[in-house]
Amino acid sequence: TSTNPASGSASPVAATARLLSSATAPIRATLFPGDGIGPEIAESVKQVFREAEVPIEWEEHYVGGQIDPRTQSFLTWESLESVRRNKVGLKGPMATPIGKGHRSLNLTLRKELNLYANVRPCYSLPGYKTRYDDVNLITIRENTEGEYSGLEHQVVRGVVESIKIITRQASLRVAEYAFHYAKAHGRERVSAIHKANIMQKTDGLFLKCCREVAEKYPEIQYEEVVIDNCCMMLVKNPALFDVLVMPNLYGDIISDLCAGLIGGLGLTPSCNIGEGGIALAEAVHGSAPDIAGKNLANPTALLLSAVTMLRHLELHDKAERIQNAILNTIAEGKYRTADLGGKSSTTDFTQAIIDHL
Ligand code: NAD
Repeated sequence: TSTNPASGSASPVAATARLLSSATAPIRATLFPGDGIGPEIAESVKQVFREAEVPIEWEEHYVGGQIDPRTQSFLTWESLESVRRNKVGLKGPMATPIGKGHRSLNLTLRKELNLYANVRPCYSLPGYKTRYDDVNLITIRENTEGEYSGLEHQVVRGVVESIKIITRQASLRVAEYAFHYAKAHGRERVSAIHKANIMQKTDGLFLKCCREVAEKYPEIQYEEVVIDNCCMMLVKNPALFDVLVMPNLYGDIISDLCAGLIGGLGLTPSCNIGEGGIALAEAVHGSAPDIAGKNLANPTALLLSAVTMLRHLELHDKAERIQNAILNTIAEGKYRTADLGGKSSTTDFTQAIIDHL
């Protein structure tokens, strides 16, 4: 089995990556620098990868400009083809206007590439003090449906409707991924997070699917926790949790809560797993328009996301080297960005990581 934190199984693309890297040919990976702070933190990743001699050649795709009629979105057909071809990529945050405008680019990517599971590891960083020093959990978020199906309309004036879709197929798929992940990574427990007491049909079906899958994994403990209680337990004692699996909206919210437990959104990585072995890594955070273009952003979350991508490619030596450099820089405390209480710019912090390689 793979030791990859973002994937439950050894992937065909990893085998190809090993072959290519042993022949010193670069591996092609898609890069979406994204919006807001995206280009600044993507630049950090490119620099660190260059200095660590990671055999990756980026295919960069910018989003915006005009709607591509072939995708009916600001995402170009070429950029989607690039991910489908490379099967591996890194994505910066993409901004979505609130309450109006075009469909979320993130939603489009998830749907078009069938990125069915979003894996969000969250662990206490050595040397960076928060209220807890023992957070070590994985949030696995269903990524294609739920409240984020994008099906909203006005019923009559003053009344709108938003449709929450839960399917057996997507629920089984993400539950299977969560249990497989737990087993492959020596985790002990999977908690299904829900609100089935109120959303009896939708969350009820999600739970039913989780139970079905749980029966196939008797070695993994299984429990069900109502979302509101889960929030309270996480804030009180995050060590109670191990792997959490949940519908889309809950995963979005809970993973930000988890980020808060370890020091904030600048620190938490994620990886989207799609059909056909696609892995598209991205930070949990958004485009942070309040600090964009100011050289203030913390690139850690995107860098650690890029590390999950390397692990997916089974480039473990490179992944370990970069992860250690990031963690050691933060632990040392001399260079930290403002979100972690420091005074370093994005570029100075990036240079410090490079010096720790
Ligand atoms: P956000 O995550 O962009 O920012 C929330 C807060 O965290 C801000 O104060 C920001 O400065 C801070 N922050 C986030 N990342 C940081 C980093 N790397 N370093 C230091 N501070 C950081 O959330 P938001 O403001 O709600 O959303 C802004 C935009 O991003 C919206 O258009 C939203 O739709 C989009 N968004 C995109 C994604 C994605 O692409 N996956 C995820 C979330 C939000």
